[in-house]
Amino acid sequence: MEVYCQGCAGCCIDWRPLLEDDQRPTQPTRTKGHDETAVDEADENGHEHERRLRRRPAIDDVYNLVPLTRDEIRAFLETGLGDVLIPRLWEADAVDDAVTVDGYDLAAIEGRPTFFVGLRKPPKPVAPFGRTTRAWLPTCVFLDPDTLQCRLHEDSRYPDECAAYPAHNVALEQETECERVERAVGGTRIRRDETAAGRGITVTVDADPTDGLLLGRQAIGQKLFVHPNPEALEGRIDRLVAGEATDEDRATFVAIAAASAPGTLSHSEPHAERARTQVLEADSWAGRAIREWERLEAADGDAPGTAVSSAIDGSFEVADGAPPTPGWDALENEEAGG
Ligand code: SF4
Repeated sequence: MEVYCQGCAGCCIDWRPLLEDDQRPTQPTRTKGHDETAVDEADENGHEHERRLRRRPAIDDVYNLVPLTRDEIRAFLETGLGDVLIPRLWEADAVDDAVTVDGYDLAAIEGRPTFFVGLRKPPKPVAPFGRTTRAWLPTCVFLDPDTLQCRLHEDSRYPDECAAYPAHNVALEQETECERVERAVGGTRIRRDETAAGRGITVTVDADPTDGLLLGRQAIGQKLFVHPNPEALEGRIDRLVAGEATDEDRATFVAIAAASAPGTLSHSEPHAERARTQVLEADSWAGRAIREWERLEAADGDAPGTAVSSAIDGSFEVADGAPPTPGWDALENEEAGG
């Protein structure tokens, strides 16, 4: 699949605050995000209800959360990046199994709240869609705010979901909402916006359209997890809704996800305990960067009239151990050189 991501990163940034700002020349319009839940469930008569792609309202306001597989979660934990992970739960609707915690009716399976684990999105000063000025926007922890390139792109931990979207929409015979896709595997040509700013360089992503596309029951224990103890979540749901989840809150969910068994609602307690410790002991460049971005944004907000400084780039992350990104010029030269 070839995409023209230069100057966009619309998949990695919560650009919704820009909607009130008509400086934005092009923006993706998406009705489906990374975090679409896709679960087929049977009613009491055993009839399968087709519920793929039904949007469930998340309890948090994080846009376009990238759902990670159990093995991806384990890889982040094993490499000391447990501090980048965060859970996503959903409010139940009239047809969902539900369990109530902190006054929220949470979507559940057999009385256990369901959740994804994704990547945290701290505020970063970014200028997507060819904008000339930066704005503080919730941005994936791994996006270099300067180049708008992913720090994990060539890394084994690059999430399948990031590689496959929007190929997943093609596989599901849905129109991709990304305007910068040239073609997907299988020769399907998808809409491409010829006027999109900075579309010159091709980024090739090797992904089968169905890679990582876990639907129905096969998602359980691999991408969709259940928490076995709703009582232990009292107070945590309130904090997740408020965007104030503590390390303990995140660890509670991440541990269960990492210790889950594919296709089942069970988990291994020793594995969960190990994963919990890995989250709580994580002290990565990415976790430190999240705290620093939050501090910088708060400081910027404390000084009315102070625009986001263009001097604030991702260089402090690199100085602290983050993988650098090559920049679009380097990619252009690479492409020109064959
Ligand atoms: S991991 Fe990379 S591609 Fe995926 S959302 Fe984060 S920055 Fe974007």
